[in-house]
Amino acid sequence: MTAGLFDTHAHLHFPDFADDLPDVLARARGAGVTRMVTIGTDVETSRAAIAIAEREPDVWATVGVHPHDAANADDAVLDEIERLAASPRVVGIGEIGLDYFRNLSPREDQARVFSRLLAVARRIGKPAVIHSRDAHEDTLALLDSERVRDVGGIMHCFSGDREIARRCLDLGLLISLAGPVTYPNARALPDVARFVPGDRLVVETDCPFLPPQPYRGKRNEPAYVTITAARVADLRGEPFESLTARMSENATTLFRI
Ligand SMILES: [Zn+2]
Ligand SMILES: [Zn+2]
Repeated sequence: MTAGLFDTHAHLHFPDFADDLPDVLARARGAGVTRMVTIGTDVETSRAAIAIAEREPDVWATVGVHPHDAANADDAVLDEIERLAASPRVVGIGEIGLDYFRNLSPREDQARVFSRLLAVARRIGKPAVIHSRDAHEDTLALLDSERVRDVGGIMHCFSGDREIARRCLDLGLLISLAGPVTYPNARALPDVARFVPGDRLVVETDCPFLPPQPYRGKRNEPAYVTITAARVADLRGEPFESLTARMSENATTLFRI
């Protein structure tokens, strides 16, 4: 029996899972996934994430406003996120960050919401779950000025290179690898998987998005985090069991589970 895998970033409360969530959770448990965190992206999905976490003993929640939704996040929204963040089933603030790939919200709004919710993370003492796409410089600068070191956090679905990884590690963050590390065109990710120290590495699905290689084009789900973890173990030349145990410990320590 292993210590179990930890899917540090799932969206179990998204409509994609509305029809068969019990089956999805059963497959995850059957595959050895013993802990999952379901990630809010706005007020509504943050509430839904907490509702699942209150029902399922092996699921925890985060609350946050995704950069895509930043334009609509006025003070009332951000106050509500802070209120929800106090729930005992909430283990982090996120996802929050900057996304200059799709730019669905103006950059000023993204930065405003990101800073404000990093301050919430500091106030309540819970770690940040950070989304950064094509925005590494600005993301790292904000994380530094908002003192993410005080609470820690995860750079989720890491998409940078070794140099960006090093700068995230310097800020005290964990690096989370997702399905793309299994892709043939994974670019810098295999190098990153080998570079990050074992006590700073975690894995995730980001389901329903970004399934690992064998399931590309289909819906992703937490059971598939085993494929990503196996690929990372392979790249590092480490036994699967010891690596997954260590990654689970990293996540449980950060989230204080
Ligand atoms: Zn994300
Ligand atoms: Zn996500």
